[in-house]
Amino acid sequence: MTFTGNKPLVSDIRGVGDTAAEELKEIGIVTLDDLFSYFPYRYDNYEIRDLAGVRDGEYVTIAGKVHSVPLLTFYAKKRSRLAVRVLTGRYLITIIAFNRAYLKKKLKPGDEVTVTGKWEKRRATLNASEFHLGTAKRDEVVAPVYPVKGSMTVKRMRKIVSQALKQFPDYLEENLPEKFLNDYKLMPRKEAVREIHFPTERARLYQARRRLVYEEFLNYELKIQAYKQIKRQSVQGNKLDIQWEQVQHFIGGLPFTLTKAQRRVTDEVLRDMASGFSMNRLLQGDVGSGKTAVAAIALYAAVTAGCQGALMAPTEILAEQHAESLQKLLAPFSVDVALLTGNVRGKRRRQLLDELKKGHIKILVGTHALIQDDVVFHSLGLVVTDEQHRFGVLQRRTLRIKGRNPDVLYMTATPIPRTLAISVFGDMDVSTIDELPGGRKKIKTYWVRHEMLNRVIQFMKSEILRGRQAYVICPLIEESEQLDVQNALDVHAQLTQALPGFHVGLMHGRLSSEEKEEVMDSFKNNRIQILVSTTVVEVGVDVPNATLMVVYDADRFGLSQLHQLRGRVGRGSYQSYCVLLADARSEAGREKMRLMTETADGFKLSEFDLKLRGPGDFFGKQQSGLPEFKLADMVHDYRTLAAARNDAERLVKNPLFWQNETFLPLRHPLEVAGILDHSHLD
Ligand code: ADP
Ligand code: MG
Repeated sequence: MTFTGNKPLVSDIRGVGDTAAEELKEIGIVTLDDLFSYFPYRYDNYEIRDLAGVRDGEYVTIAGKVHSVPLLTFYAKKRSRLAVRVLTGRYLITIIAFNRAYLKKKLKPGDEVTVTGKWEKRRATLNASEFHLGTAKRDEVVAPVYPVKGSMTVKRMRKIVSQALKQFPDYLEENLPEKFLNDYKLMPRKEAVREIHFPTERARLYQARRRLVYEEFLNYELKIQAYKQIKRQSVQGNKLDIQWEQVQHFIGGLPFTLTKAQRRVTDEVLRDMASGFSMNRLLQGDVGSGKTAVAAIALYAAVTAGCQGALMAPTEILAEQHAESLQKLLAPFSVDVALLTGNVRGKRRRQLLDELKKGHIKILVGTHALIQDDVVFHSLGLVVTDEQHRFGVLQRRTLRIKGRNPDVLYMTATPIPRTLAISVFGDMDVSTIDELPGGRKKIKTYWVRHEMLNRVIQFMKSEILRGRQAYVICPLIEESEQLDVQNALDVHAQLTQALPGFHVGLMHGRLSSEEKEEVMDSFKNNRIQILVSTTVVEVGVDVPNATLMVVYDADRFGLSQLHQLRGRVGRGSYQSYCVLLADARSEAGREKMRLMTETADGFKLSEFDLKLRGPGDFFGKQQSGLPEFKLADMVHDYRTLAAARNDAERLVKNPLFWQNETFLPLRHPLEVAGILDHSHLD
């Protein structure tokens, strides 16, 4: 039987009274399930060890003899710090204990002590978390350490969990089908939970964690896949009646042949559009991989189906650029592209909106101006957004409801590591262009120290004398007292002086959008030869005549960002260069610079970035959209995640999953979460 009715609460555990129950509630534990899934974040090891094999930062228990009179100091109110020298094995170490002033009188040289704590190798210091006189006797050699706050302590948590396991030995039922346990050789649930709280040996703890991580991922993926499945079945999507011969004709008329990757993703996109459910697809591809061409084909296909298409870009500059390149591709097929930005005002705007509403305008490109209330489409069938992570979820949704569930394609040039893509975009399909059009010259990338600046400037000069242009990127706008890094204002002044006769422009986030546009325009038309800028030029700006990208303090940037910056050059037929100025004092910094000079593959770089900086950095802080797991780690356990995702996909498509008793424990959380409730869909 399954406990679906009255679930035992922590107050049902012997020894847990009202106060303790209240304290547990403070950290989010109410039911027995909550308690069992409140996992330790590390373990204290009470096995007495010799310090010889202990790594810096490790928690360890040692036994030794007091070797000095303890030194006690008080600070703040009633806070104290006790330091005492202890001889353990061949080591004479210092033990630090906070707020245990009573030890001062008890410890005399020659006394035996047993101490557990964190070993700081360099200072030969052990920071005591537990301090015993004599030889300590233990129930468990390894004991869990829980994140606690308030008046709850780790010791009491241990007691409560241990008592709960004793009192409810059969409470935890298996929730995975036997076939899964056998196929993956997973530890049974009951055993795994016991082991994760009170490990008996390292290998078993590893197996316990493996099992629980899989379970956690599977439950998560089931929610996502079930949600996706139900949405597909219940939301009436547009079934676009694409005129395939016309689309073929359009593709044949492009000024280039599609790469294999472009053909594959175009296929994926068009198939979604022609199907009865709403497309929700991410199109990712390195800078210059030809995403815009794919978007153009999709937009054209929507038009052949008698619908309108929209493309939304994060900045006016990018919107204009997109409008231009789409216009070039689509005009020969008599499809006009209209542009709507904040600059389109008054009568022109009214006219444009009127034509849009009547359906005369087939394709509209713009910034967030597209999602204002008075922008009404006649029959919006496809929405493409560029650099999707820069738009808020809400903005995207607003645009979506302007059509009745139009298909949506999100384009991004920040390749998302596969490890993240499978989890973050769980309910989104992902298309990847993993190949660049042939015949491109590789951008030559160099890493130099700042002392070489003069030679870099000479090189810049020679490129400009050949008629080319250069970008110079700085991490900051103004001088900063905290950071010894180059700022755009200084660099601008410096280069203006060093390169007389050339025009050096300046661009940064504090300029108004008109000023920015003016600068960008001058750069595009080669009235400015050198553009000194902060990272505002990062995304999408297209100036094919620019062949040199110089980045100051390059080691301060992430790899993906550097790769984005590098992608600003090499867009024309000229050989292009990227010079990374970095003193790179840290090993991580040097590693980054080496990777940049060695690889041109954005996906590889993003995987490294993930390793160096962690997943949080990928999508900006606020809308990281990363799910949180209790035990699992998306990056570290990503193979398990991939397996769980496949299993979940198969399960929700299997009618037996929805009917059979075996799957009840896996189905149950879906019901609780309201996933099966249609009103839940947006
Ligand atoms: P992305 O948007 O992915 O950065 P674009 O679509 O802007 O890339 O394409 C970059 C450049 O490559 C454009 O000038 C485009 O015309 C060109 N291009 C796109 N696809 C191909 C292809 N299959 N072969 C040759 N050139 C291509
Ligand atoms: Mg593009």
